[in-house]
Amino acid sequence: MVWRVFRFFLFQLAGALLGLLLPLNNHLHGVLLGMVLASALWVLLDLRRGMVLLAWLKEGNTQSRVRISGLWGEVADRTWRLTRARDKKVEESQGRLNEFLAAIQASPNGVVLLDAQGCIEWCNETAADHFAFDPQRDVLQHIGNLLRDPGFLAYLGGEDYAGDIVMPGARSTASRPVQLAVHLHRYGEGRKLLLSRDVTSVEQADVMRRDFVANVSHEIRTPLTVMSGFVETLQTLPLSNEERARYLDLMAQQARRMQTLVSDLLTLSKLEGSPPPGTAEWLSVAGLLLLCEQDGRDLSRLLVDQSHDLRFSMSGPCEIAGSHSELLSAMSNLVSNAVRYTPAGESIEVRWQNLPDGRAEFSVKDAGPGIAPEHIPRLTERFYRVDRSRSRETGGTGLGLAIVKHVAQRHGAELLIESQPGQGSRFAMVFPASRVRQIPA
Ligand code: ADP
Repeated sequence: MVWRVFRFFLFQLAGALLGLLLPLNNHLHGVLLGMVLASALWVLLDLRRGMVLLAWLKEGNTQSRVRISGLWGEVADRTWRLTRARDKKVEESQGRLNEFLAAIQASPNGVVLLDAQGCIEWCNETAADHFAFDPQRDVLQHIGNLLRDPGFLAYLGGEDYAGDIVMPGARSTASRPVQLAVHLHRYGEGRKLLLSRDVTSVEQADVMRRDFVANVSHEIRTPLTVMSGFVETLQTLPLSNEERARYLDLMAQQARRMQTLVSDLLTLSKLEGSPPPGTAEWLSVAGLLLLCEQDGRDLSRLLVDQSHDLRFSMSGPCEIAGSHSELLSAMSNLVSNAVRYTPAGESIEVRWQNLPDGRAEFSVKDAGPGIAPEHIPRLTERFYRVDRSRSRETGGTGLGLAIVKHVAQRHGAELLIESQPGQGSRFAMVFPASRVRQIPA
């Protein structure tokens, strides 16, 4: 500032000196004129600098720096510093916001920000996928116009957001249902945060658990009811010895049915709750086939008057790595199914085949009724039966193929089912080469 005043006086002095040189009679007049002209020039130069500063401010390009001297130069310099500092802060907060949004984008849950009117301000990609929103087009749309599920609309309007609701996702179809848990939270001044979570598998597991409990209860209740009926009859009616023996026989049959069911349930729970069998124990396939054959022939004799034409064959001596009890249970289940569903006297072919690529296939082919294609994908579900009465009559629990599937999975094997109604069925387990080794005859 002092320098500026000093410069002004220097200007005046130069003006006064130049005024002295003017050819006037009175030197004082010349000095005064020189000083007035110097002041006018000073003001003009100042005005020019002010105009340059104004033009720079109007342009708003804070990246480039304007170079002017004097007071205006200082104003320009300070303005430039201030705007640079502000720009830096804006940049930093924009960076933080971007990082924050990227974190929300990465969330496996859907996030939608709603303004006080319930219009969408922002949503992440997961939410866009859950509700089929377009993150650009649907901004500022009212959420109620886009999510028309009656349960959600009641929840949105109800103002009680303590819990969440489960509703179908936008891409839900009858064959591939998608269930979403949706929770609203209030924040700020009347704003809402909507969180969505895909709970399809949780819901499915829940439905499966409920179905399973209902099925087990039903399976146990039937023989129990029959047995308690017989007990009551035995207690209340005077019966002959033969009648008594017949009733006791029937009761024993029902007790066996319950025993088989409980034993299959225990087998399944063991299969699910234990680590898969290692490859340390090598078992003789011939030994396993022999036990299967004995079980199959016994069952065939028990069920039908004219036994089945059961044929067992093996392509070569071989060993398999795994659990003896599990493999025997799976193989026997397949043989027992073939015996139970094939009419008397018909043929059943059980084969062990070492495949050229080192794998091995255990297959059971029968000449039974066959299975319609729509049932095949569901056969390994627990308690799923195509022929309910035939299954029950022959002592089936509806768990056999579920056990086979688990055992196959635990041994890295593939379960193949080929069947056509009226043309018999073929069930096969293909074991990986890592679990199979051929041995000298
Ligand atoms: P189940 O104890 O009822 O036999 P499974 O799980 O072993 O239960 O089999 C499921 C259903 O698959 C059976 O109820 C039956 O309807 C059908 N099934 C299984 N094996 C055969 C077969 N070899 N031939 C025809 N149907 C079969």
